[in-house]
Amino acid sequence: PLIIGIESSCDETGVAFVRGNTLLGDVVASSVEQHARFGGVVPEVASRAHLEELIPTIRRACEESGHRLADVDAVAVTSGPGLAGALMVGVASAKALAWALDKPLYGVNHLAAHVCADVLDHGPLPEPTVALLVSGGHTNLLLVRDIASDVVELGSTIDDAAGEAFDKVARVLGLPYPGGPHIERAAAEGDATAIRFPRGLTSRKDLERHRFDFSFSGLKTAVVRWVQERERAGEPVPVADVAASFTEAVADVLTRKAIDACREYGVGDLQIGGGVTANARLRALAQERCDAAGVSLRVPRVRLCTDNGAMVAALGSQLVQRGLAPSSLDLPADSSMPVSQVKAD
Ligand code: ATP
Ligand code: MG
Ligand code: FE
Repeated sequence: PLIIGIESSCDETGVAFVRGNTLLGDVVASSVEQHARFGGVVPEVASRAHLEELIPTIRRACEESGHRLADVDAVAVTSGPGLAGALMVGVASAKALAWALDKPLYGVNHLAAHVCADVLDHGPLPEPTVALLVSGGHTNLLLVRDIASDVVELGSTIDDAAGEAFDKVARVLGLPYPGGPHIERAAAEGDATAIRFPRGLTSRKDLERHRFDFSFSGLKTAVVRWVQERERAGEPVPVADVAASFTEAVADVLTRKAIDACREYGVGDLQIGGGVTANARLRALAQERCDAAGVSLRVPRVRLCTDNGAMVAALGSQLVQRGLAPSSLDLPADSSMPVSQVKAD
């Protein structure tokens, strides 16, 4: 069956076609530049951009895949979690499409879709898999026993998302939004051991209650303080060392807890996704620690780590292949859809 996937939960309008585990066309229009001067995603701006971009993006995905909408066997759309107004644009369009084509509609969970993106690069996901999702809006550690029906959240951030921390630290260092790529570039010239920044929720006491949770707001504050002290003393801020040391703190905690989760649950596969996965140091440290722990690491190409329609189509395709019932045509745009709910009713 041919599945069309539609994503509009944040600032990317994504449309793609998938058959089985094969990606046939994948178009993303991002409004990231419109948010740059605000230093973060502005929900109203994102919603309007989706309205303007969705139909042209569907057209381009049809051209790229060589398929017509009439060829589609099922429609998949991100039902949540995400920005309510942004989600609504994709959900309303998907409903209209499913109704007009008289094809089943699958509302899918954005987080499970991120995990599922990997099947497009590496084939069927081993089950169980531990999945680490790190993006601008999310930081979750998941135990995936069945990607279509059994996803359990082991932990998540109790404050800022990892990508959000990159964006905030970039601002402190005078680097543009989104900060991740700029921090990475600056860090390339820096010494990751120059400054020992705190590792959130890793003390023995914190681990009792927050074994697989994350916290990045204390780290951000530590960086701000460190930079301000330098400035107050009239000394230059070693941007490269701060960027490298900050990145090290983030990558250290993320990979350490992910490997601990694999050990705890006896899982031999770790999958990493989300925009922060673009970070080369994070990927290298994950690989190093997976090798040491005998865990195999799966990381899709960067384009599939950030928000896109391909991952939504990939999850829709899994649901169809596994014979799950479609969602109702009045499925909601659910801004706080729980991780455990892979498919909208
Ligand atoms: P969502 O959270 O819903 O997935 P998002 O748009 O915030 O949405 P992504 O598009 O997946 O998330 O990722 C964007 C985030 O990734 C930003 O916070 C950005 O700073 C961060 N990022 C991008 N490239 C890098 C990098 N090389 N190193 C570190 N962080 C990065
Ligand atoms: Mg984005
Ligand atoms: Fe996302």
